[in-house]
Amino acid sequence: MTHPKPVKLQKLHGKVAIVTGAASGIGAVTARHFADHGALAVVIADVQDAKGREVAASIGSHRCTFVHCDVTDEDQVKSLVEFTVNHYGSLDVMYSNAGIASASAQTVLELDLSGYDRVMAVNSRGMAACVKHAARVMVEKGVKGSIVCTASLLADCGSESLTDYTMSKHAVLGLVRSASVQLAPLGVRVNCVSPGFVGTPMVAEAFKIGAEELKEMMAAVYIGSDGPLMEKHVADAVVFLASEDSAFVNGHNLVVDGGVGLKSLSLL
Ligand code: NAD
Repeated sequence: MTHPKPVKLQKLHGKVAIVTGAASGIGAVTARHFADHGALAVVIADVQDAKGREVAASIGSHRCTFVHCDVTDEDQVKSLVEFTVNHYGSLDVMYSNAGIASASAQTVLELDLSGYDRVMAVNSRGMAACVKHAARVMVEKGVKGSIVCTASLLADCGSESLTDYTMSKHAVLGLVRSASVQLAPLGVRVNCVSPGFVGTPMVAEAFKIGAEELKEMMAAVYIGSDGPLMEKHVADAVVFLASEDSAFVNGHNLVVDGGVGLKSLSLL
């Protein structure tokens, strides 16, 4: 008996998308996933030019372009959106994902406020700029667009030491919930994805560890599961939120952590 060839799902067929923070980690894997799902164009935005260009080239230059964009600079975000619309005629999906970790673990007692400013500038202000300019162009062009932001498990609970990072991710939830209410009547959806622990360069840098230790850490967090595939799991969730499959999902925070975030509760 011959088996039929598996059908490749193209959930983003013909869509034009921007992914910020796509030179590395979750953003790079998701940008590739967008292309695999048939996106017409994927614009990779990041401050790391060499790595961003590498990711864009590996996906395929006809469908993927790198644009330098520091999300803390509103003019650069506006230019990124304008570039995308001018080159590809539309903007259907904005995945606002660029983010940084706390410079060091600090309780509120020793909080370094200049580090706090930096974390808030990227993770909160930068997200707001991306949502604002993507939404403006979607509304102006009458596009039924989808905006997805990367929050975190720490967006919805307290942290013992990552004070500024936790605050910045709570702000992402506030942004997504407000924007979703405001933009729903205009046909634009806004959701966020909250990854659990993902073994990316951000985490390696934050914990000051190498690839091997990172692997061990991941294995310890996701015992018996496929934690090393976390970027792919997050990318799957983002594709769902970006596509018509989630047409009636709005203002939602989709946690992708294999359930590990619930562990402490299950001990009670
Ligand atoms: P990463 O360091 O691999 O990727 C982050 C990317 O953002 C990098 O390419 C970096 O250059 C870019 N970036 C940083 N500042 C920028 C700026 N001002 N403008 C444009 N780009 C900028 O880390 P990652 O883990 O893939 O993080 C992606 C997102 O996921 C972040 O928002 C992070 O907070 C969030 N997140 C990560 C984890 C995790 O465990 N790794 C967990 C929850 C949430």
